[in-house]
Amino acid sequence: MKTLVIASRNRGKVAEYRRLLSDLPFNVLSLADYPSLPEIEEHGRTFAENALLKAQTVTRLTGELALADDSGLETDALDGLPGIHSARYSGPAATDEQNNRMLLAQLSGISPGQRTARFCAAIAVTGPGLEPRIVEGFCGGEITLSPRGTGGFGYDPLFFVPEAGKTFAEMDPAEKNNYSHRARAFASAREILRHIAASAGS
Ligand code: IMP
Repeated sequence: MKTLVIASRNRGKVAEYRRLLSDLPFNVLSLADYPSLPEIEEHGRTFAENALLKAQTVTRLTGELALADDSGLETDALDGLPGIHSARYSGPAATDEQNNRMLLAQLSGISPGQRTARFCAAIAVTGPGLEPRIVEGFCGGEITLSPRGTGGFGYDPLFFVPEAGKTFAEMDPAEKNNYSHRARAFASAREILRHIAASAGS
């Protein structure tokens, strides 16, 4: 069976990928299984560049098939910010709450109709001798005037999905997966991985 290394040390993210990949024939590992690997810097200019950089680094250092993602929130009124800076928008050790407060402050005075935004996710799959693949997923919505809901993480309480009439934080995980940028990107990544598994005959 082929090994697939998830390029993350985030236990929640790795657990989610393990679940999503459970019916594919891969021995799924993560960076937690390679404690001596260095931290991978994300200095790309786009989500896709960052995902590719991480996946390629992990393939180079482990010799294995790798999957990496990068995601974040883009707002139109702020010309795409926080974008690739989403995780550390209000500073290097920013909490979700601090980032949310900063985003609301920067959008203060922007009327409801102008608060359009989208979540973006890029997933890269790389492997020795494989053409690198990158897929993306998006979810459009609006930034609320104040937080709503207690579920999810990050900017979820501020991200209102008009088709659902709820913020991401007001959805349970299964409902969020019907709309989420990451779930949409993963649907494409899954097809790529299915082909890789089939062509490896594993
Ligand atoms: P990363 O892709 O794990 O580096 O996450 C980047 C950052 O984007 C997170 O720390 C969150 O601030 C934000 N983000 C990405 N996806 C979501 C989501 O589904 N909900 C809320 N925030 C998200």
